[in-house]
Amino acid sequence: MPPTAPDFAPLFGGHRATWLVTGAAGFIGSNLVEALLAAGQSVVGLDNFATGYQHNLDEVERLLPADAGAFRLITGDIRERAACDAAVAGVDYILHQAALGSVPRSIDEPLISHDVNVTGFVNMLDAARRAGVKRFVYAASSSTYGDEPSLPKREELIGNPLSPYAATKLANEIYAAVYAITYGFRATGLRYFNVFGPRQDPDGAYAAVIPKWTAAMIAGDDVVINGDGDTSRDFCFVANAVQANLRAALAPDNVQGEVFNVAVGQRTSLTQLFAALRGELGRHQIHYDRAPVMAEFRPGDVRHSLADITKAQSLLCYAPSHDIDAGIAAAMPWYIDFFRRTGRAG
Ligand code: NAD
Repeated sequence: MPPTAPDFAPLFGGHRATWLVTGAAGFIGSNLVEALLAAGQSVVGLDNFATGYQHNLDEVERLLPADAGAFRLITGDIRERAACDAAVAGVDYILHQAALGSVPRSIDEPLISHDVNVTGFVNMLDAARRAGVKRFVYAASSSTYGDEPSLPKREELIGNPLSPYAATKLANEIYAAVYAITYGFRATGLRYFNVFGPRQDPDGAYAAVIPKWTAAMIAGDDVVINGDGDTSRDFCFVANAVQANLRAALAPDNVQGEVFNVAVGQRTSLTQLFAALRGELGRHQIHYDRAPVMAEFRPGDVRHSLADITKAQSLLCYAPSHDIDAGIAAAMPWYIDFFRRTGRAG
């Protein structure tokens, strides 16, 4: 498989540093590790493999050029303060991704989501502050917009969170703001909108829609649409999320401590997504002829989501490299290869 990430080396301007990526064995984390190492940076990864996989890190290793930076993995849990302290030692930049994602998971297990996403977050934030780390960029979430109906979503106008997951991500932003006021330690939040791409987990009850539907289509199984199909999202290819992280971390002091939407600014309904995935698979001679199965709306889900990305564009010079169609085209060979390797496609 060729590398799927664009070349981010120019963003570093020859600057070499040590980066900590938490959640390094996960979907977004492993894509960050790949981009950093490919650009010659030194990377420490922290993960407890709750939802991440060693095979993600093995794949990164296979994709890297000979002159890639050095990688060291710490297997540890962000709920343990000692693990956080050990991970931040000697680190310049932190990209904090470790968390338990998924709205339904948080409804099933709110206390574990709280422990990891809130206590674990504060453990990392405080370890970073005490260690004098230069930059702390963390994964926030579009779920923070909650019941605020206006579209597109602008950073300053949020509603009430609609799930325990959304509450944990809002709590992250509140703690980040309080640490800025109290300690002058300014962490930058990236509100991701439905990120997708290579290494996103297609398995399990809490899988995200794009890998779940792609897996079902390749296997010839039913695709279930929750709601009436008009539910819409701003689907963001992972290379855009990687770019936003690097730009946020490398941005000057005066834009640290802000919160940014990370998306494309393009709204796609679930019905349109179904057609786009089916069409892209057809280009790979995989033909899916079934109609989708319609099911109930899921509790806790927001109905429509679309980002205004002008703040990230103007303050971070963020410029998404992939819209949804380009992202699906870039991701599909990876999914087909992954499902063939795991025995789910012919
Ligand atoms: P993922 O599940 O693939 O990655 C999360 C990683 O964190 C996994 O490798 C997991 O093992 C690790 N982890 C979980 N609990 C841990 C703990 N206690 N200690 C150490 N490591 C732990 O999910 P992802 O999609 O890559 O999400 C990364 C981040 O982005 C998360 O914070 C998530 O909430 C956020 N986010 C993701 C999306 C999206 O669309 N994927 C949208 C909004 C926000």
